[in-house]
Amino acid sequence: MGFFDKLFKKKEEKKEAAPAEKPKAEPASTSASFKAEPAPAPAKTEAPKAAPKAEGGNPDPYAFIVPPVASPGDADVPKDAILPAADLGPLLPGAPAGGKIKLAVYWTAACGGCDVSLLDTHERILTIGDMADIVMWPVAADGKEKDIAAMEDGEITVSLINGAIRNSENEHMAKLLRQKSKIVVAYGTCAMFGGSPALANLVPGGAQEILDYVYTKTPSSANFQAEYHKDAPVIPQTSYQAPEGELTIPTLYDTVKTLDQVIDVDYSIPGCPPLPESISQLLKAVEDFVYNGVPLPPKGTEIGITTKTLCEECPRKKENARITEIKEPHEVDVKPDICLMDQGILCLGPATMGGCGARCTRAGQPCRGCYGPSPDVQEQGASMFTAVASLFPVLDEDPTCGEDEIIKIMSTIKDPLGYFYAYTLGKSLIRRAVKEGGQ
Ligand code: SF4
Ligand code: SF4
Ligand code: SF4
Repeated sequence: MGFFDKLFKKKEEKKEAAPAEKPKAEPASTSASFKAEPAPAPAKTEAPKAAPKAEGGNPDPYAFIVPPVASPGDADVPKDAILPAADLGPLLPGAPAGGKIKLAVYWTAACGGCDVSLLDTHERILTIGDMADIVMWPVAADGKEKDIAAMEDGEITVSLINGAIRNSENEHMAKLLRQKSKIVVAYGTCAMFGGSPALANLVPGGAQEILDYVYTKTPSSANFQAEYHKDAPVIPQTSYQAPEGELTIPTLYDTVKTLDQVIDVDYSIPGCPPLPESISQLLKAVEDFVYNGVPLPPKGTEIGITTKTLCEECPRKKENARITEIKEPHEVDVKPDICLMDQGILCLGPATMGGCGARCTRAGQPCRGCYGPSPDVQEQGASMFTAVASLFPVLDEDPTCGEDEIIKIMSTIKDPLGYFYAYTLGKSLIRRAVKEGGQ
Protein backbone atom coordinates (compact mmCIF):
# COMPACT_ATOMS: atom_id res chain seq x y z
CA MET A 1 0.00 0.00 0.00
CA GLY A 2 1.51 3.34 -1.08
CA PHE A 3 1.79 6.56 0.87
CA PHE A 4 -1.35 8.08 -0.64
CA ASP A 5 -3.42 4.91 -0.18
CA LYS A 6 -2.49 4.88 3.51
CA LEU A 7 -3.14 8.61 3.85
CA PHE A 8 -6.59 8.47 2.32
CA LYS A 9 -7.50 5.23 4.01
CA LYS A 10 -6.65 6.92 7.33
CA LYS A 11 -8.80 9.90 6.42
CA GLU A 12 -11.70 7.66 5.41
CA GLU A 13 -11.45 5.78 8.72
CA LYS A 14 -11.46 9.08 10.59
CA LYS A 15 -14.44 10.28 8.63
CA GLU A 16 -16.40 7.16 9.51
CA ALA A 17 -15.48 7.49 13.18
CA ALA A 18 -16.10 11.24 13.29
CA PRO A 19 -18.71 12.40 15.81
CA ALA A 20 -21.62 14.64 14.85
CA GLU A 21 -20.52 18.08 13.68
CA LYS A 22 -19.53 20.38 16.52
CA PRO A 23 -21.24 23.72 16.92
CA LYS A 24 -19.08 26.42 15.35
CA ALA A 25 -17.12 28.58 17.78
CA GLU A 26 -17.51 32.33 17.61
CA PRO A 27 -14.83 33.92 15.44
CA ALA A 28 -11.74 34.91 17.34
CA SER A 29 -11.70 38.41 18.65
CA THR A 30 -8.94 40.39 17.04
CA SER A 31 -9.09 43.47 19.18
CA ALA A 32 -5.32 43.72 19.24
CA SER A 33 -4.45 45.92 16.29
CA PHE A 34 -1.37 45.16 14.23
CA LYS A 35 1.61 47.36 14.75
CA ALA A 36 5.01 46.13 13.64
CA GLU A 37 7.38 45.90 16.56
CA PRO A 38 10.49 47.96 15.98
CA ALA A 39 13.30 45.59 15.14
CA PRO A 40 16.53 45.98 17.09
CA ALA A 41 19.05 48.20 15.37
CA PRO A 42 21.51 46.23 13.28
CA ALA A 43 25.10 46.14 14.37
CA LYS A 44 27.32 48.24 12.18
CA THR A 45 29.04 45.74 9.95
CA GLU A 46 31.12 46.76 6.99
CA ALA A 47 30.21 45.28 3.64
CA PRO A 48 33.03 43.16 2.27
CA LYS A 49 33.23 45.37 -0.77
CA ALA A 50 32.00 48.90 -1.42
CA ALA A 51 30.24 49.85 -4.62
CA PRO A 52 32.79 51.43 -6.92
CA LYS A 53 32.02 54.89 -8.29
CA ALA A 54 31.43 55.48 -11.98
CA GLU A 55 31.99 58.74 -13.78
CA GLY A 56 29.92 61.53 -12.27
CA GLY A 57 30.28 60.21 -8.74
CA ASN A 58 27.53 57.61 -9.04
CA PRO A 59 28.05 53.93 -8.37
CA ASP A 60 28.52 51.80 -11.42
CA PRO A 61 26.17 48.89 -10.89
CA TYR A 62 27.83 46.87 -13.60
CA ALA A 63 31.27 47.03 -12.05
CA PHE A 64 30.20 45.61 -8.71
CA ILE A 65 31.30 42.03 -8.34
CA VAL A 66 30.01 39.97 -5.45
CA PRO A 67 32.61 37.54 -4.17
CA PRO A 68 31.59 33.95 -3.34
CA VAL A 69 29.32 34.06 -0.34
CA ALA A 70 28.30 31.94 2.59
CA SER A 71 24.80 30.62 3.23
CA PRO A 72 22.85 32.58 5.82
CA GLY A 73 23.27 29.84 8.41
CA ASP A 74 27.04 29.70 8.12
CA ALA A 75 29.19 30.57 11.08
CA ASP A 76 30.96 33.51 9.43
CA VAL A 77 27.74 35.44 8.95
CA PRO A 78 27.16 37.69 11.97
CA LYS A 79 24.02 36.63 13.86
CA ASP A 80 22.93 40.27 13.94
CA ALA A 81 23.24 40.71 10.17
CA ILE A 82 19.71 41.97 9.88
CA LEU A 83 17.96 44.98 8.43
CA PRO A 84 15.10 46.75 10.20
CA ALA A 85 11.94 47.82 8.36
CA ALA A 86 12.88 50.61 6.00
CA ASP A 87 11.26 53.99 5.60
CA LEU A 88 11.65 54.42 1.87
CA GLY A 89 10.87 58.13 1.84
CA PRO A 90 9.77 59.93 -1.32
CA LEU A 91 9.96 58.35 -4.74
CA LEU A 92 13.36 58.59 -6.34
CA PRO A 93 13.81 60.86 -9.33
CA GLY A 94 14.10 58.78 -12.47
CA ALA A 95 16.92 56.57 -13.58
CA PRO A 96 20.21 56.57 -11.66
CA ALA A 97 22.97 58.60 -13.35
CA GLY A 98 25.24 55.56 -13.30
CA GLY A 99 22.81 53.69 -15.53
CA LYS A 100 19.93 51.36 -14.86
CA ILE A 101 20.68 48.06 -13.21
CA LYS A 102 19.37 44.81 -14.66
CA LEU A 103 16.84 42.89 -12.59
CA ALA A 104 15.52 39.36 -13.01
CA VAL A 105 12.63 37.88 -11.04
CA TYR A 106 12.13 34.16 -11.41
CA TRP A 107 9.86 31.51 -9.94
CA THR A 108 10.86 27.89 -9.61
CA ALA A 109 8.48 25.57 -7.69
CA ALA A 110 6.28 28.35 -6.37
CA CYS A 111 2.65 29.32 -5.99
CA GLY A 112 2.94 32.81 -7.46
CA GLY A 113 2.36 34.55 -4.13
CA CYS A 114 5.95 35.72 -3.94
CA ASP A 115 5.72 37.30 -7.39
CA VAL A 116 2.49 39.03 -6.47
CA SER A 117 4.02 40.27 -3.21
CA LEU A 118 6.32 42.55 -5.20
CA LEU A 119 3.19 44.53 -6.02
CA ASP A 120 2.84 45.21 -2.28
CA THR A 121 5.46 47.88 -2.87
CA HIS A 122 2.56 49.96 -4.25
CA GLU A 123 3.81 53.09 -6.05
CA ARG A 124 7.37 52.02 -5.29
CA ILE A 125 7.02 49.64 -8.20
CA LEU A 126 7.61 52.80 -10.28
CA THR A 127 11.02 53.18 -8.68
CA ILE A 128 11.81 49.60 -9.60
CA GLY A 129 10.97 50.54 -13.19
CA ASP A 130 13.10 53.68 -12.94
CA MET A 131 16.20 52.05 -11.57
CA ALA A 132 16.07 48.68 -13.27
CA ASP A 133 15.55 47.10 -16.65
CA ILE A 134 13.58 43.95 -15.99
CA VAL A 135 15.30 41.33 -18.12
CA MET A 136 13.14 38.44 -16.94
CA TRP A 137 9.96 38.09 -14.90
CA PRO A 138 7.86 35.23 -16.30
CA VAL A 139 4.69 36.17 -14.43
CA ALA A 140 4.69 39.79 -15.62
CA ALA A 141 7.04 40.35 -18.53
CA ASP A 142 8.58 38.61 -21.48
CA GLY A 143 12.10 37.27 -21.35
CA LYS A 144 13.22 33.88 -22.50
CA GLU A 145 15.79 31.40 -21.26
CA LYS A 146 17.77 31.83 -24.47
CA ASP A 147 17.94 35.61 -23.89
CA ILE A 148 19.40 35.06 -20.44
CA ALA A 149 21.80 32.40 -21.72
CA ALA A 150 23.09 34.89 -24.33
CA MET A 151 24.01 37.47 -21.67
CA GLU A 152 27.51 37.95 -20.30
CA ASP A 153 28.30 36.28 -16.98
CA GLY A 154 27.40 38.69 -14.17
CA GLU A 155 25.50 40.99 -16.52
CA ILE A 156 22.32 40.90 -14.43
CA THR A 157 22.76 43.01 -11.30
CA VAL A 158 20.16 41.32 -9.07
CA SER A 159 18.11 38.14 -9.45
CA LEU A 160 15.23 37.52 -7.06
CA ILE A 161 14.45 33.81 -7.12
CA ASN A 162 11.37 32.49 -5.36
CA GLY A 163 10.25 28.88 -5.00
CA ALA A 164 11.87 25.57 -4.19
CA ILE A 165 13.91 23.38 -6.54
CA ARG A 166 11.46 20.68 -7.60
CA ASN A 167 12.63 19.60 -11.04
CA SER A 168 15.53 19.78 -13.48
CA GLU A 169 14.23 22.97 -15.11
CA ASN A 170 14.13 24.75 -11.73
CA GLU A 171 17.75 23.76 -11.09
CA HIS A 172 18.88 24.71 -14.59
CA MET A 173 17.31 28.18 -14.34
CA ALA A 174 18.68 28.77 -10.83
CA LYS A 175 22.19 27.87 -12.06
CA LEU A 176 21.83 29.99 -15.18
CA LEU A 177 20.66 33.03 -13.22
CA ARG A 178 23.46 32.53 -10.69
CA GLN A 179 26.00 32.52 -13.50
CA LYS A 180 24.55 35.65 -15.11
CA SER A 181 23.92 37.61 -11.89
CA LYS A 182 26.11 39.58 -9.52
CA ILE A 183 23.63 39.19 -6.66
CA VAL A 184 21.13 36.41 -6.05
CA VAL A 185 18.40 36.76 -3.44
CA ALA A 186 16.51 33.73 -2.11
CA TYR A 187 13.10 35.37 -2.06
CA GLY A 188 10.52 33.82 0.24
CA THR A 189 10.16 30.75 2.41
CA CYS A 190 10.07 28.16 -0.39
CA ALA A 191 13.41 29.35 -1.76
CA MET A 192 14.97 29.52 1.72
CA PHE A 193 13.58 26.39 3.36
CA GLY A 194 11.70 24.38 0.72
CA GLY A 195 8.31 25.62 1.94
CA SER A 196 5.18 23.65 1.17
CA PRO A 197 6.61 22.07 -2.04
CA ALA A 198 9.16 20.26 0.15
CA LEU A 199 6.34 18.40 1.91
CA ALA A 200 6.47 16.15 -1.16
CA ASN A 201 9.61 14.75 0.48
CA LEU A 202 7.29 12.92 2.87
CA VAL A 203 6.26 10.53 0.09
CA PRO A 204 8.68 7.61 0.55
CA GLY A 205 8.52 6.46 -3.06
CA GLY A 206 9.46 9.91 -4.35
CA ALA A 207 8.56 11.25 -7.78
CA GLN A 208 7.40 7.91 -9.22
CA GLU A 209 4.93 7.29 -6.40
CA ILE A 210 3.55 10.81 -6.78
CA LEU A 211 3.19 10.48 -10.57
CA ASP A 212 1.57 7.05 -10.25
CA TYR A 213 -0.92 8.37 -7.76
CA VAL A 214 -1.75 11.59 -9.57
CA TYR A 215 -2.11 9.99 -13.00
CA THR A 216 -3.69 6.66 -12.15
CA LYS A 217 -5.28 6.67 -8.68
CA THR A 218 -7.14 9.93 -8.11
CA PRO A 219 -10.80 9.34 -9.00
CA SER A 220 -10.75 11.56 -12.08
CA SER A 221 -7.49 10.16 -13.46
CA ALA A 222 -8.42 6.56 -12.64
CA ASN A 223 -11.69 6.92 -14.56
CA PHE A 224 -9.93 8.61 -17.47
CA GLN A 225 -7.18 6.00 -17.66
CA ALA A 226 -9.71 3.14 -17.43
CA GLU A 227 -11.79 4.62 -20.21
CA TYR A 228 -9.06 5.70 -22.62
CA HIS A 229 -5.94 3.70 -21.81
CA LYS A 230 -7.45 0.51 -20.39
CA ASP A 231 -4.63 -1.73 -19.14
CA ALA A 232 -1.73 0.55 -20.06
CA PRO A 233 -2.12 3.80 -18.12
CA VAL A 234 -0.24 6.74 -19.55
CA ILE A 235 2.10 8.63 -17.22
CA PRO A 236 4.22 11.62 -18.35
CA GLN A 237 7.66 10.61 -19.56
CA THR A 238 10.63 12.96 -19.64
CA SER A 239 11.28 12.15 -23.27
CA TYR A 240 8.96 11.28 -26.17
CA GLN A 241 9.87 10.55 -29.74
CA ALA A 242 7.34 12.38 -31.87
CA PRO A 243 7.39 12.19 -35.68
CA GLU A 244 8.74 15.75 -35.69
CA GLY A 245 11.56 14.89 -33.29
CA GLU A 246 12.24 14.30 -29.59
CA LEU A 247 10.04 16.13 -27.09
CA THR A 248 11.31 16.53 -23.53
CA ILE A 249 9.88 17.81 -20.27
CA PRO A 250 11.76 18.50 -17.01
CA THR A 251 12.53 15.60 -14.67
CA LEU A 252 10.62 15.68 -11.40
CA TYR A 253 13.02 15.21 -8.48
CA ASP A 254 12.53 12.68 -5.68
CA THR A 255 13.77 15.24 -3.15
CA VAL A 256 12.72 18.89 -3.23
CA LYS A 257 15.67 21.19 -2.49
CA THR A 258 16.19 24.71 -1.25
CA LEU A 259 17.82 27.33 -3.45
CA ASP A 260 21.07 27.38 -1.47
CA GLN A 261 21.35 23.60 -1.90
CA VAL A 262 21.94 24.12 -5.61
CA ILE A 263 23.58 27.56 -5.91
CA ASP A 264 25.34 30.20 -3.82
CA VAL A 265 22.89 32.70 -2.39
CA ASP A 266 23.89 36.24 -1.40
CA TYR A 267 20.86 37.39 0.57
CA SER A 268 17.62 35.84 1.72
CA ILE A 269 14.26 37.18 2.65
CA PRO A 270 11.82 34.90 4.50
CA GLY A 271 8.05 34.96 4.51
CA CYS A 272 5.22 33.22 2.74
CA PRO A 273 5.24 35.59 1.00
CA PRO A 274 7.71 38.24 2.24
CA LEU A 275 6.03 41.20 3.91
CA PRO A 276 5.95 44.68 2.37
CA GLU A 277 8.24 45.88 5.20
CA SER A 278 10.85 43.30 4.28
CA ILE A 279 10.57 44.08 0.58
CA SER A 280 11.06 47.76 1.44
CA GLN A 281 14.29 46.86 3.25
CA LEU A 282 15.54 45.04 0.21
CA LEU A 283 14.53 47.90 -2.09
CA LYS A 284 16.13 50.47 0.21
CA ALA A 285 19.41 48.60 0.23
CA VAL A 286 19.40 48.32 -3.57
CA GLU A 287 18.33 51.96 -4.00
CA ASP A 288 21.00 53.21 -1.60
CA PHE A 289 23.58 51.25 -3.50
CA VAL A 290 22.48 52.26 -6.98
CA TYR A 291 21.76 55.95 -6.31
CA ASN A 292 24.14 56.82 -3.48
CA GLY A 293 26.93 54.29 -3.57
CA VAL A 294 26.12 52.99 -0.08
CA PRO A 295 27.73 49.56 0.34
CA LEU A 296 25.37 46.64 0.25
CA PRO A 297 24.72 44.71 3.49
CA PRO A 298 27.12 41.91 4.47
CA LYS A 299 26.77 38.78 2.41
CA GLY A 300 24.46 36.25 3.97
CA THR A 301 22.20 38.88 5.50
CA GLU A 302 18.66 37.68 6.08
CA ILE A 303 16.35 40.57 5.37
CA GLY A 304 13.42 41.41 7.63
CA ILE A 305 14.16 39.20 10.61
CA THR A 306 14.93 39.92 14.24
CA THR A 307 17.38 37.95 16.36
CA LYS A 308 14.64 36.64 18.65
CA THR A 309 11.84 34.11 18.45
CA LEU A 310 8.36 35.04 17.35
CA CYS A 311 7.09 34.57 20.93
CA GLU A 312 9.14 37.59 21.95
CA GLU A 313 7.26 39.90 19.60
CA CYS A 314 3.87 38.29 20.15
CA PRO A 315 1.64 40.40 22.41
CA ARG A 316 -0.25 37.40 23.82
CA LYS A 317 0.35 36.70 27.52
CA LYS A 318 2.13 33.43 28.20
CA GLU A 319 0.98 31.51 31.24
CA ASN A 320 2.83 28.28 30.40
CA ALA A 321 -0.30 26.28 31.15
CA ARG A 322 0.08 22.50 30.89
CA ILE A 323 -1.29 20.97 27.69
CA THR A 324 -3.90 18.32 28.36
CA GLU A 325 -5.65 18.44 25.03
CA ILE A 326 -4.67 19.66 21.57
CA LYS A 327 -7.24 21.59 19.63
CA GLU A 328 -7.72 23.16 16.22
CA PRO A 329 -8.33 26.92 16.18
CA HIS A 330 -11.90 26.43 14.94
CA GLU A 331 -12.67 24.27 17.99
CA VAL A 332 -11.79 27.03 20.43
CA ASP A 333 -13.40 30.34 21.29
CA VAL A 334 -9.97 31.97 21.11
CA LYS A 335 -9.23 34.49 23.85
CA PRO A 336 -7.66 37.56 22.28
CA ASP A 337 -4.85 38.18 24.75
CA ILE A 338 -3.73 34.74 25.97
CA CYS A 339 -1.01 32.63 24.35
CA LEU A 340 -2.54 30.17 21.90
CA MET A 341 -0.51 27.29 23.33
CA ASP A 342 -2.09 28.06 26.70
CA GLN A 343 -5.42 27.56 24.96
CA GLY A 344 -4.37 24.15 23.60
CA ILE A 345 -3.64 25.34 20.04
CA LEU A 346 -0.27 24.34 18.61
CA CYS A 347 1.65 27.47 17.67
CA LEU A 348 5.16 27.38 16.22
CA GLY A 349 6.11 30.72 17.77
CA PRO A 350 8.67 29.23 20.22
CA ALA A 351 10.66 27.70 17.33
CA THR A 352 10.22 30.42 14.71
CA MET A 353 12.37 33.40 13.80
CA GLY A 354 10.81 36.73 14.67
CA GLY A 355 10.38 39.60 12.24
CA CYS A 356 6.83 39.39 10.90
CA GLY A 357 5.35 41.26 13.84
CA ALA A 358 3.40 38.11 14.88
CA ARG A 359 0.79 38.73 12.22
CA CYS A 360 -0.96 35.38 12.48
CA THR A 361 -1.18 35.21 16.29
CA ARG A 362 -2.47 38.78 16.43
CA ALA A 363 -5.26 37.63 14.14
CA GLY A 364 -6.08 34.65 16.35
CA GLN A 365 -4.34 32.05 14.21
CA PRO A 366 -1.31 30.03 15.29
CA CYS A 367 2.07 30.67 13.73
CA ARG A 368 2.87 27.95 11.19
CA GLY A 369 6.55 28.83 11.09
CA CYS A 370 7.01 30.52 7.72
CA TYR A 371 10.00 32.58 8.93
CA GLY A 372 11.94 29.38 9.54
CA PRO A 373 13.91 28.30 12.58
CA SER A 374 14.68 30.75 15.34
CA PRO A 375 18.31 31.74 16.01
CA ASP A 376 20.50 28.89 17.25
CA VAL A 377 17.89 26.31 16.20
CA GLN A 378 18.61 24.26 13.12
CA GLU A 379 15.61 21.97 13.34
CA GLN A 380 12.40 23.94 13.62
CA GLY A 381 10.27 20.80 13.89
CA ALA A 382 12.41 19.09 16.52
CA SER A 383 12.60 22.30 18.51
CA MET A 384 8.82 22.51 18.41
CA PHE A 385 8.45 18.89 19.59
CA THR A 386 10.63 19.83 22.58
CA ALA A 387 8.59 22.96 23.29
CA VAL A 388 5.34 20.98 23.23
CA ALA A 389 6.78 18.15 25.33
CA SER A 390 7.85 20.63 28.00
CA LEU A 391 4.22 21.68 28.40
CA PHE A 392 2.79 18.22 29.01
CA PRO A 393 1.64 17.50 32.54
CA VAL A 394 4.13 15.38 34.43
CA LEU A 395 3.64 12.76 37.11
CA ASP A 396 5.03 14.99 39.87
CA GLU A 397 2.28 17.52 39.25
CA ASP A 398 -0.50 15.17 38.34
CA PRO A 399 -0.22 11.55 39.53
CA THR A 400 -2.88 10.49 37.03
CA CYS A 401 -0.81 11.60 34.06
CA GLY A 402 1.67 8.94 33.07
CA GLU A 403 3.34 7.95 29.82
CA ASP A 404 0.12 6.49 28.42
CA GLU A 405 -1.72 9.75 28.93
CA ILE A 406 1.05 11.72 27.22
CA ILE A 407 1.10 9.32 24.26
CA LYS A 408 -2.67 9.73 24.04
CA ILE A 409 -2.35 13.52 23.89
CA MET A 410 0.51 13.31 21.36
CA SER A 411 -1.48 11.00 19.12
CA THR A 412 -4.13 13.70 18.74
CA ILE A 413 -1.63 15.85 16.83
CA LYS A 414 -2.75 15.41 13.27
CA ASP A 415 0.15 14.91 10.88
CA PRO A 416 2.95 15.93 13.29
CA LEU A 417 5.73 15.96 10.66
CA GLY A 418 3.63 17.98 8.25
CA TYR A 419 2.62 20.39 11.02
CA PHE A 420 5.99 20.98 12.62
CA TYR A 421 7.92 21.02 9.33
CA ALA A 422 5.21 22.71 7.25
CA TYR A 423 7.74 25.14 5.78
CA THR A 424 11.20 23.84 6.57
CA LEU A 425 11.38 20.15 5.69
CA GLY A 426 13.65 20.90 2.71
CA LYS A 427 16.24 22.46 5.01
CA SER A 428 15.84 20.03 7.91
CA LEU A 429 18.13 17.19 8.89
CA ILE A 430 15.30 14.77 8.12
CA ARG A 431 14.96 16.07 4.54
CA ARG A 432 12.78 13.19 3.35
CA ALA A 433 10.98 9.96 4.16
CA VAL A 434 12.45 6.75 2.82
CA LYS A 435 11.07 3.27 2.34
CA GLU A 436 11.95 0.78 5.02
CA GLY A 437 15.29 -0.74 4.04
CA GLY A 438 15.33 1.58 1.04
CA GLN A 439 17.72 4.27 -0.05
S1 SF4 B 1 6.97 31.26 -0.07
FE1 SF4 B 1 4.71 31.13 0.04
S2 SF4 B 1 4.00 32.75 -1.33
FE2 SF4 B 1 6.17 32.34 -1.87
S3 SF4 B 1 6.08 30.77 -3.48
FE3 SF4 B 1 6.28 29.70 -1.54
S4 SF4 B 1 4.15 29.19 -0.97
FE4 SF4 B 1 4.05 30.83 -2.51
S1 SF4 C 1 3.34 30.35 21.43
FE1 SF4 C 1 2.36 31.55 19.80
S2 SF4 C 1 0.65 32.59 20.80
FE2 SF4 C 1 2.03 31.90 22.40
S3 SF4 C 1 3.36 33.64 22.81
FE3 SF4 C 1 4.41 32.32 21.32
S4 SF4 C 1 3.83 33.16 19.34
FE4 SF4 C 1 2.37 33.99 20.83
S1 SF4 D 1 3.13 34.41 12.54
FE1 SF4 D 1 4.39 32.69 11.84
S2 SF4 D 1 3.30 31.86 10.04
FE2 SF4 D 1 2.45 33.92 10.47
S3 SF4 D 1 3.65 35.31 9.16
FE3 SF4 D 1 4.66 35.24 11.15
S4 SF4 D 1 6.25 33.61 10.96
FE4 SF4 D 1 4.78 33.36 9.27
